[in-house]
Amino acid sequence: MASPVAIAALVGKVLRERALRPPLLAVRSQAGHLTPRRWLNLQEYQSKKLMSEHGVRVQRFFVASTAKEALEAARRLNAKEIVLKAQILAGGRGKGVFNSGLKGGVHLTKDPKEVGQLAQQMIGYNLATKQTPKEGVKVNKVMVAEALDISRETYLAILMDRSHNGPVIVGSPQGGVDIEEVAASNPELIFKEQIDIFEGIKDSQAQRMAENLGFAGPLKNQAADQIKKLYHLFLKIDATQVEVNPFGETPEGQVVCFDAKINFDDNAEFRQKDIFAMDDKSENEPIENEAARYDLKYIGLDGNIACFVNGAGLAMATCDIIFLNGGKPANFLDLGGGVKEAQVYQAFKLLTADPKVEAILVNIFGGIVNCAIIANGITKACRELELKVPLVVRLEGTNVQEAQNILKSSGLPITSAVDLEDAAKKAVASVTKK
Ligand code: GDP
Ligand code: MN
Repeated sequence: MASPVAIAALVGKVLRERALRPPLLAVRSQAGHLTPRRWLNLQEYQSKKLMSEHGVRVQRFFVASTAKEALEAARRLNAKEIVLKAQILAGGRGKGVFNSGLKGGVHLTKDPKEVGQLAQQMIGYNLATKQTPKEGVKVNKVMVAEALDISRETYLAILMDRSHNGPVIVGSPQGGVDIEEVAASNPELIFKEQIDIFEGIKDSQAQRMAENLGFAGPLKNQAADQIKKLYHLFLKIDATQVEVNPFGETPEGQVVCFDAKINFDDNAEFRQKDIFAMDDKSENEPIENEAARYDLKYIGLDGNIACFVNGAGLAMATCDIIFLNGGKPANFLDLGGGVKEAQVYQAFKLLTADPKVEAILVNIFGGIVNCAIIANGITKACRELELKVPLVVRLEGTNVQEAQNILKSSGLPITSAVDLEDAAKKAVASVTKK
């Protein structure tokens, strides 16, 4: 039922999670990581549109893709003060830096002209934050919103929590900041309300959370009402997470969602078509898009051994066995069935494009795939790309004997491996030798 894209995303998630864990733990907890879901992310402006459609209070805003549009939006808003926000999927934008030199992905100004000038230094540039890769993420759009004064910033999130078998509302009176830091330094300031999905959110729960967040007087009812609306939104759109940081109050006595991050359950795609149609995929790694053009699935990780495999199962097994032997995968390229020689060449080109790569491990099991085609593709790629890094090849299955002969007679410095374990050992040894 799941689409190939969803499966690739799932494998990517599993591999990334494994890459963060010691191998034995990864192997043992395998079942837990194989939950069939991915998380669609939307940009803040898209999330806020959904929120406002469900009665959740957000600021008035426009979206702009050019500095000129941003300037016009600022004029049209006709607000006392404007907040300009770079739209990327990562958080921590406020403290981020652009490669244009501009500091801060969130700016407040009273002058619409300045909105244009600032947008000029945001759109088309990369914004790097604590949550992005070092080089940052390219900003294609900015949100131009009416700024409101904030008298207090709290944190509110609703998530589908496996350990509670259902939705949990998490809140803290200390918002606007990194919530992980609050959880570490002041765990007593993190409050939770477990919701029974059949009974829904109770008034008493919304009230208690509002109070724990420090909303008092008439603000308490208002905050509780916003929390209930957020919960209804969460259910209705099949979200796995709705995070509002800051969930703030204004001096005028309004409770407002100043930021929004919503993730979705991919299994709900069939009944949330409008939402999934908003996924612009522009933040997919370019290399992933490039791979997709050749019907290859690429998953980037942070080690130094490039892996060329066929099939998700083999990718995971390869990942684990590299770890068990003390190595770390740099990436995975999954060649489907029905392989052509040209794809093998492209695959090598993509794998070696990553400067972190210090060795390549080919681990192909030829069932549908003919090993001789792979071997020919490999030798061609080695010659044409003048491969500089050690290459360990383990082929098994259909036509493997001919494949071995092709590799051997090529005269290229290719290390053959007899099985998965042998291949992983040789690949790890080839990078640690240096
Ligand atoms: P993030 O850094 O990616 O989480 O982006 P946020 O949307 O949370 O904005 C960062 C910070 O900018 C917030 O924590 C607020 O302190 C501030 N901020 C955002 N919008 C407004 C606004 O309308 N008015 C004021 N005064 N501050 C804002
Ligand atoms: Mn935020």
